[in-house]
Amino acid sequence: MSEVRVQHNERFDVFIVGKKRNRVFVVDRDRCKGCRICVSICPYNALEMSDKKTHRGYFYPIENGNCTACRQCLYACPDFVLSIHDLRDVTAGG
Ligand code: SF4
Ligand code: SF4
Repeated sequence: MSEVRVQHNERFDVFIVGKKRNRVFVVDRDRCKGCRICVSICPYNALEMSDKKTHRGYFYPIENGNCTACRQCLYACPDFVLSIHDLRDVTAGG
C-alpha cells in the first residue's frame, strides 16, 4: 500500500490509517528527534524515515500505508510526537 497523506503543514503530517481507514495518524514533526524507535517497534513496518529534515535538523517518520492503528509506536516514542484520532472526530472539527 502507499501512504495516504491528507495534510502536510509547517508542523504536522496527517495520514488516514487503520484497517477500516477510519483513524488519522498525526506526526507532530517539530517534536521529533529522529531516534527511529517508532520505526523499529512497529510490527507492521508501517513507518519509514523521511528524506527531508525538520527545521531542527532531524529526519522524521512517514506512514507508508500499512498502519493498523495499533498504537504501539505512540507509547514507545519518548517525545510524544505521534497520536491517533478517530476520523469522525477530526472531520467534525473535534
Ligand atoms: S500505530 Fe501501530 S501499525 Fe501504526 S505505525 Fe504505530 S506501531 Fe505501526
Ligand atoms: S520515536 Fe518519536 S522521536 Fe523517535 S523518530 Fe519516532 S516520532 Fe521521532
